This record gives sequence, structure tokens and C-alpha cells, in this order.
Amino acid sequence: MAIYLTLNAAPQNGSLRDQCGLPFACVVEPFARYDGPSISNNSDAVLAEDIGRCAECYAYVNYWCSFQQRAWMCSLCGACNEYATVKNQRYARKPRESCPEVKRSLVEVACSLDATLPEDTEGPVEQEVTPIYVALVDTTGGEEYLELVKSALLAALEALPSCALFGLATYNDQIELYDVVGGVTSIRSVPILESYGSPTALELQDGLPLGAFLAPVASCKDALAAALETLEPYAGDERREGCRGFGSALQAVLRYLGTGLGDAQEGSRAERIHSNGSAGVSGRHELTPVPSLGRAGARLMTFLGGPPNYGRGAVLEQDVPQTSPDRSPQPVHDATLPDLNPYSYVPISQASGSAAKPAVAHTHHQNGTSNSAEPRWVRSGSAKAFYEEAATAAAALGVSVDVYAVSAGGCGLDALEPLASRSGGVMYLYPHVGAAALPQDVYRRLAEPCAQNGLLRLRTSPEYSVVRSYGHLFPDDRFDNLCHVIAAGPSTAFAFDFDFTNAGGFSSDRGSPPVLQMAFQYSIAVPSSKDGSGAEANENAKSPAPSRYVLQRRLRILTLRLDVARLPAQVYAAVDADAILLLLMHKIGAAAAAQGMPEGRALLQDWLVLFTAAYNRHLSTPLTSAEQARSIFAVDAEFAGSEALQPLPRLVYALLRSPLLTELKQQHADLRTAICHLWASLPPQELRTAVYPLLTSFSNPDTLAYPRHSLSRAALTTSGVPIFLLNAFTEVIVYYMASTPPDLPFPPPQTSLLRRKVNAVRAARRLTPQLRMLREGVDEVAPFMRHLIEEPEMGADGKVAFPGMVQFLYDVQTEVWEYLQEQGYGER
Ligand SMILES: [Zn+2]
Repeated sequence: MAIYLTLNAAPQNGSLRDQCGLPFACVVEPFARYDGPSISNNSDAVLAEDIGRCAECYAYVNYWCSFQQRAWMCSLCGACNEYATVKNQRYARKPRESCPEVKRSLVEVACSLDATLPEDTEGPVEQEVTPIYVALVDTTGGEEYLELVKSALLAALEALPSCALFGLATYNDQIELYDVVGGVTSIRSVPILESYGSPTALELQDGLPLGAFLAPVASCKDALAAALETLEPYAGDERREGCRGFGSALQAVLRYLGTGLGDAQEGSRAERIHSNGSAGVSGRHELTPVPSLGRAGARLMTFLGGPPNYGRGAVLEQDVPQTSPDRSPQPVHDATLPDLNPYSYVPISQASGSAAKPAVAHTHHQNGTSNSAEPRWVRSGSAKAFYEEAATAAAALGVSVDVYAVSAGGCGLDALEPLASRSGGVMYLYPHVGAAALPQDVYRRLAEPCAQNGLLRLRTSPEYSVVRSYGHLFPDDRFDNLCHVIAAGPSTAFAFDFDFTNAGGFSSDRGSPPVLQMAFQYSIAVPSSKDGSGAEANENAKSPAPSRYVLQRRLRILTLRLDVARLPAQVYAAVDADAILLLLMHKIGAAAAAQGMPEGRALLQDWLVLFTAAYNRHLSTPLTSAEQARSIFAVDAEFAGSEALQPLPRLVYALLRSPLLTELKQQHADLRTAICHLWASLPPQELRTAVYPLLTSFSNPDTLAYPRHSLSRAALTTSGVPIFLLNAFTEVIVYYMASTPPDLPFPPPQTSLLRRKVNAVRAARRLTPQLRMLREGVDEVAPFMRHLIEEPEMGADGKVAFPGMVQFLYDVQTEVWEYLQEQGYGER
């Protein structure tokens, strides 16, 4: 299922929703695995342009429409669309079931490659493309780090299609480009400039033409692997050791990809006037940046072994104390003026909608040239703006940037985060080099299908509308309800908040239930047979070594009809706790980012109290008796009467204690940023595991004891079982109690049920969780105990810093009771 609603039955109006205290919203996985018939380029296949649209609301014909004698009725708005128009003629014919869009609520069809709106449909539907991958490797992170990155890139080579091109570049205080095409590997070095102007002393294109840099994987795989083996940890001169010119290298590589490929391949970078007269938006003329790189875009994998500290985009800058009065004061980087001109990214001004401003010529201090005063490292104020700009440029080129940071120390990922999230990339943090599953994660990332250049639109019945979106997507600034999804994997999720457009909501007797329609249009590069004779182009099919890739544009339409809840009890019964957690995470996360964590925590706790109070007011029978209402224990804070709601207090409690809302003491400086980046795209079930890990138990390695335990010490001791399996999002821990019978094998054998469960969890996750196996009384068990979040957290002063779950529930119960008393409850 690709859409999850927070309430599986829509509250009939805003008043009922507010009374119940729950959000009415949805979570969408637009590129979820699709089991329907795959599209093909057969001449008789249905294309997006064949599917009828409502003349009133532009919704697509769907399963829920009704077909009358002369017209079809739109299931969203109820408008009558006559069969007389050209596009509607296909629905006059019977049986209409031959139209897939009528037969199924989820369809996927081909559409024009030139489409820039879901409404655009005409044009060629596929084009041969060459997938392009570039690795940009920091060589300053030490030997162990570099070995890990080498393994990851060797894994990457295995994941790539043979028709792909692959380029290898490294960076420190210079960029090194690897030329493997000629049979002999040669390296071109281009120094990174520390001052303003060009990021490098020489355009990379002049150092090594892009055509020579990008090597065909089919013929150069061994040469690429051999080149990877030669990577050495950087040993520069003493003065520049550890110079990590990441931003400059990134900028230079983006310029390299943009200029070179734009000339070499079809699909020039030039703007074009795109006119569109199709349904909905007539006579519209617009300037559209055309992605270059032969339209398939490129994947730029960047590896960091520490914080960028040199050249542009440095998150750490050396602050040289002013000792000499004749030196001008250190210039402050102006965050609004990223110093890109005159060496700006080529299509950036069109893409961002704002002309690149001329750079302020600021004098940059010369490293080590001054005086005896010790320089100190300070955080740069402009780095984030630099990476935002770089991400916009990358996205305009169709280059998605993945950031893999492997470092025990901070890398300034808060500044780098926009680079990944705004270019359709990911950002993964590996605090422990020894335990990092980087090769597996890189492999999985490359092997997974990817929807690019997506446009997502949710249409609703007129009684309600989408008011806000959450996740790594970008609302279009011209069209309502249209969002740009730069790239999405099968489990990338986005959230949308609804509101009612009028007080009546669905209580009016229009007669038709609420409907929600998702239209997701995207491009995807898929393997194809050489002759193009209509072979199935299915990204899931592992055809033997496809020699050719084609770019297809597809439109996926999913239409849901919602039930309506008319009473509070019906609303509560329809709750999807995981989807509600996801909405709370986004809303509270946004509040915490804007107003601070204490404010975020207060908001979330208040929400739980008000929601629990609302529930008790509506449903809990004891409170109807004035006598019992005087007792605090009459308040049901655990939702004993509602199975759907029972997980909520725990999930809220776990969210309050999560990195989203707590300062992480003694943890990695970038952990919070990395977690927030990751969480922002997780679907509901995965987020739940991340927020409240799943604890199961085993009587022995082959026998499951209990499928779920609360995360408390009491759960361990009272259950009487010897073995626990904790499934947290980034960690999987097998824990043997001290009482485990000595005849049970440790570690559990590979063939055991326990081990198979562990392996299945690790294999399924986008970020391979670290595996630990711990024995009470033998190993350091703090990594396991840390997850038992229902225990109170003790502060350094010996007092309780955060109450345990039991106390927390009691506090909520008290607050709810007081609140109800204030409201005059129990006095009737
Ligand atoms: Zn309509």
C-alpha cells in the first residue's frame, strides 16, 4: 500500500476532528513497489495521454467513477464529463473494464519524456541513456577509513549495470582525477584554491576531458578496481596535512559534469520555451531548465573522513587571532551571498529562480603565513548556504549527491544536510569505522530502483484539501498541491496534512464519499533489450547483463475512497498509530527546529494530555459518574478500551526521549542531524522501529518466546526468558541474560531461527544496522541497556532527568484529571 492515513475513516468535519484531538493527514510512498502489470512500449498499451481527466478538477478517471449513459461522473468532485469529447470516448465503449484505469485503483502508464507537469503527456516515451556514477573520495581520513571506502566502491562496481560510466576522483587540498580508459591508470592532479574565484587552479575539464574521466564499466571494471586499490591515505606536506577541500571539490566536479556532458550528449542544457496547452493549464508558457547529462542524470557518491576544513564550503575555518594592526579584520562570510560568481554552476540561476549575485571579493586569510599566534578552528557561518546552493545546482543538472561520512568526530553534517536532501541524495553517518556496513549500504543504494525528477500531486474531494507537506520534497511555487520529488526509492515517504475547506465537511449530503487521488510522474532508467523490440522493461527483473538502458517517464495514479467517521468512537477505532507518530515527528520536529527542543517537548506532551482528555471525555464510561470522576484513577491514560490507540502513549514517550527532542550527551556531534535526515523520509513502520525499537524474546535460539516486550528492565526479569533480540533501526542486539542455561550456544548458530531473524532484519533495511551480541555479566551491556527507555534517566546530579514510562503515564493521568476538573467534569 502506498498511502497510509492517520485515520482510516475521515472525520466527518473539522469539529469532530478537533474534538477527538487527532491529526487528519496521510503518508505517501509514491514509488512503493508496484505489483500491477508493468507498462510496455507496445503500440496498444495505454499511455498517460489516453486517460480521461475531469473537466472540473482535472482528476484522472478512476475505479471509483461512475459511468452513466452519456457521461462519467468524477469520483472526486462529482462533475459530469460527457463521452462526446475526444478523450472521453474510450469510456463510452463497453466493457469499460478493458481500460486499466477503470479496472484498478492503482495504475501505472507511460507518458512523455518531455513532461514537466503531470498534465503533460505527449512526446517520446523512452530514450536510450547511459547511467553515470562518480565517486568523490576524501583521502585524509586515515588508513582504516580509506580501506572501508575502497571496499564500498568495489561493492559499488558490482552493483552497477555494465552499460554505466564510472568516474573516480579523490580530494584533499587537491583533486585527483583517475584516467583508467587507456589501459594504464594515470592520475591528473588539480590544486584546490583556498581563495575566492574558481574552486580550482584549472578547470577539471582541462585537466582531464570528461569523456576520458568517465570509464565504461563494461570494459574498465578491472582497471577501476585496480585504481581503487592504489588509493593511499593522503600524506601532504606538514603544513597542509588533513586539508579537506570538500566544498571546492564538489563544486569543481559539478561544473565538470555540467559543462562536459552538456556538450557531449543529447539533451542540451540550453533552456527552451515549453508551451503547454493540455488540460487544466491552457496557454501557459514557461522557462524550464532541461536536465543535461543525457537526461538520465548522475549519482555522485561523496565520502568524508572528517569535517570539510579547506577551500569553499569549509564547515571549520581557521580563525587567526589578529595580532598585527595593519591586517584588515577577518571578513565574515555573508550567508546570503554564496561566492559562486564568476564561477557559478551553469544552470543555477534558472533552477533556483534567482540570479546569482556577484561575489563579494573578500580576502581570505593565508594559512600559516602570519604570525606566532595559534589559529583556532571555528564553525563557518556560510557553509550551509554554500551546500544549499550546491544542491540546487546539482538537482538542476540531474545529479543526486549521496554523502557518506565515516568519522568518530563531527563532520559538520548539519551544514551538509541540504546537499543530500535537496539533490535527492542520502546522508549516512558511520561513527565507528570498524563496525560500519558501508559497502553493504552503498551496494544497496545503487542496486535499488530510483524514481527521478518526480512530480507528486494529491487531489482531494472539494470538502478538504492538502495544506502542508513534509519530507524531502519541494512544493512548486506556481501550482498548488504540486510537489517536486528530486529522487525517491521504493520506501521513501512523504506526509501531507489535510484541512477541511468548509465547516460542514463530509456531513453534507452530496452523497459521494471523500476521495484522495495521488498522481506521481517520474523518470526511471531501466534495462532494455538491445533491439528494443518491446521486451519488458522491468527494473525488478534481473535480465542477463543488459547492454542498454532506456529512460522512461511514467505516471502512477492511485485513487482511494475514504470511509467517513461520524462519531468520536468511530474516529478512535480508525486510528493508525504509526502514521500518527510520523505526523507528530514531522510537526513537532519542525516546531523544535524553529523554537527549540524544550518548546517541542512541551508541545508534544501537551498534545498527549489534550488528546487523552478528549478521549476520556468522549469514551471513558467511569467519567460519566460524578462520583468516580473525582478520582484520578478514573482517567484512562492507557486507552484500555481502544486497541488502536494503545501504542500512542508509548510512542509519544519514546519520541520525547528520542534524539529529535533531547540533547545527546556524549554522543557523536552529527548523530542528531543524521537521524533527523533519515527519519524525514522513513515510512510509518520503519519510523516506529526507529523511535521505539522492537524487543522480542527467545527460549532458545530456535524458539520464539514472546513477539514483543516493553523496553524496561522489568520486562527482562519478569519474563523469565533467557535470550532477547532488540531490533532498533541502526542497531540489532542479541542479548543473553546471565541466567541463560550454559548449554545454549553463544553466539547463536547461523542456522538458528534467531540468527535468521537477525539476518533478515539487516538485509531488509536501507541502512544496515550494526549487529552486537552481548552477554550479561560478560560483555559491556550499556549499548543494550541504553535502549531500555522506559527506565527513568538519571541526571549527573543523581536526580531523575527524565521520568520512566510508569511515572510519565501517571503524570499524564494527573494532568488530564486536573484539566478535566478545570473543565468542570464530574460536577454535573
Ligand atoms: Zn472532478
